[in-house]
Amino acid sequence: MSDHIIPHSYQVSISHRKTLNGHNSLLLWFTGLSGSGKSTIANVVERKLFDLGIKTYTLDGDNIRKGLNKNLSFSPEDRAENIRRIAETANLMIDAGIVVLGAFVSPYKKDRQNIKAIVTEVNFVEIYVNTSIKECERRDVKGLYKKARAGEIKNMTGISAPYEAPENPDIEIKTERETVEDAAQRIVEYIIPKIKLQNE
Ligand code: ADP
Repeated sequence: MSDHIIPHSYQVSISHRKTLNGHNSLLLWFTGLSGSGKSTIANVVERKLFDLGIKTYTLDGDNIRKGLNKNLSFSPEDRAENIRRIAETANLMIDAGIVVLGAFVSPYKKDRQNIKAIVTEVNFVEIYVNTSIKECERRDVKGLYKKARAGEIKNMTGISAPYEAPENPDIEIKTERETVEDAAQRIVEYIIPKIKLQNE
């Protein structure tokens, strides 16, 4: 089937879009346990980038699991398909010239490798939001840990499903030691040179 899909040659290319925007596009991928701080930090990073005039969009459980992926469960197979679709969506947004932020638990190493393969390594920044399970459970932002301990949620990462920590993340944030503001600032400083256009 895909053998018969011949790409059309469009007059407006990714490089035109990047020139118009004044910056490169890439994907900032936040991984970590539920309640580790992914959305909180991504939110501040996006605000800072937006204030610098950078075009951004955040993909997270709220806008993906309720729409595009609402037919998927939390089984390992469905988690893999969830990630694949998110990565393909991010890839389209990268092509559109946007700095994409993705905040997902994404507990499996091979799924995160798959994202990197889809968007390509140069466009992928892995941010490990490293918060202990003890602290995530203490925060219990969404009440999910309580439900998991009560057996109401199966496949809860950190409780009844594994989390495979990144070995070589581009950035690691230990939220029990670093403030949201400091972490967000560190991320912005890391990516500014990466999204700068070559000819500037
Ligand atoms: P996730 O998106 O990883 O599920 P959230 O960002 O929704 O997690 O929740 C993290 C919670 O931890 C928030 O209530 C946030 O205010 C709190 N928190 C406390 N300290 C930090 C920190 N240094 N970095 C990020 N979040 C923190």
